[in-house]
Amino acid sequence: VRGYEGERVAVLGLGRSGMSAARALRAGGAEVLPWDDGEAARDKAAAEGFAPVDLTRQGALQGCAALILSPGIPHLYPAPNRVVAAAWAAGVPVDNDIGLFFRSLATGDWDIYDTPPKVIAVTGSNGKSTTAALIHHLLTEAGRASQLAGNIGRGVLDIDPPGEGGVVVLELSSYQTDLARALTPDIAVFTNLSPDHLDRHGGLGGYFAAKRRLFVEGGPDRAIIGVDEDEGRYLANQMAEAPADDRLIRISAAGKLSGPGWSVFARKGFLAEWRKGRQVASLDLRAMPGLPGAHNHQNACAAYAAARCLGLAPKVIEKGLTSFQGLPHRSQLVAEAGGVRFVNDSKATNADSAARALAAFSRIRWICGGLEKEGGLGALAPHLGNVAKAYVIGREAAGFALHLGDTPHEVCTAMATAVARAAAEAQPGDTVLLAPAAASFDQYDNFERRGEDFIAEVARALDATNRAT
Ligand code: ADP
Repeated sequence: VRGYEGERVAVLGLGRSGMSAARALRAGGAEVLPWDDGEAARDKAAAEGFAPVDLTRQGALQGCAALILSPGIPHLYPAPNRVVAAAWAAGVPVDNDIGLFFRSLATGDWDIYDTPPKVIAVTGSNGKSTTAALIHHLLTEAGRASQLAGNIGRGVLDIDPPGEGGVVVLELSSYQTDLARALTPDIAVFTNLSPDHLDRHGGLGGYFAAKRRLFVEGGPDRAIIGVDEDEGRYLANQMAEAPADDRLIRISAAGKLSGPGWSVFARKGFLAEWRKGRQVASLDLRAMPGLPGAHNHQNACAAYAAARCLGLAPKVIEKGLTSFQGLPHRSQLVAEAGGVRFVNDSKATNADSAARALAAFSRIRWICGGLEKEGGLGALAPHLGNVAKAYVIGREAAGFALHLGDTPHEVCTAMATAVARAAAEAQPGDTVLLAPAAASFDQYDNFERRGEDFIAEVARALDATNRAT
């Protein structure tokens, strides 16, 4: 990256994004001061020729032009990391890899192209990964050069030169938008908002503010905004200069959006695009195997809108939506046996995303539980009628089960027990669904490991039944 040639830049946290920042800064001629509390991470950096510098030592940031942080490092709530606090005291600007990326673009990295590449940034509480992957899929299927980066795909500083007319689709979490000093995508997408990561942002207001930054800093050329919650309606109102402003595309999975502006909404399984008070296109989402449930229809609307902004025709987009396979660990059908479906939605780490999964299926044998999040489980209540029985996992399974009230449930603690019990009790027509409504860290490294464990236990349970019959 450009912007720090001949200057000294500290990099705290040497995981994936930290290391890619360190490499990119070095390639751009900066002197890098890398540090991580973990010895293993420091050794890895040293193996790549970096000399770790203990940034926790007093005065270590002296002469630094910037401090680059990894997304997991607390910088305001619950309490700032002490290197961060030292940077504030010394007046050293704090940034992250996303900020470095946009800063570098601002120096004219892409001026070599006749048709400059476009950057699309996707944010929101739920559906970011699916929407970003879907946009990337639509573009790729249409023959456009696209790269997926950020939270999903590669680190943004590790992407290849995008080429003439290329596209970079960036998935950004609130942790990333919160920190980045420059956020200047051409197209910004906001899917929805529900309480998540509240401890990190000092409450819902701070969490929304972190996501909102994408829309206020200079502002993208096009804003695609989910308007099914007040926060989205507020953002949309801020983006539009006039009711018919083409800069804004409103998205909804909750019903028709009329008015003179541009909108894409899903209703009764159909997606419709409206512009200037008239329907431009309509397509049947029920035929899309990779996009089950109303929540995925919202993602489809957002991805459709982004593809339209980039000039794709509705027919071309329809083909791409049909061939999308979905992402692992999000409403992923992993097995079907004896009329019972097994679905892995390990990524449902908060109540709102789990509620969407519960709404998308019926007669559910629901595997839930794990590390509870702030924000509560209230969103689940309207959907508990779809649950035949819950099988509660997690170290605090008994505590989690207290939220289930009258819903039949069993405290299983271990995934193996939960899957075996659910598989044994399931009747034809039931769905065994892992949608924990909780983080995984009490029992697993991450939600992917939890989902993989579910898949392995399903295979084992089905194997056992086969041998028994
Ligand atoms: P993110 O990257 O924002 O976490 P994902 O696409 O990985 O989003 O999906 C996360 C979880 O949320 C999954 O459990 C999925 O089933 C659910 N989900 C996906 N899209 C939506 C949406 N538009 N609204 C609510 N929940 C969703």
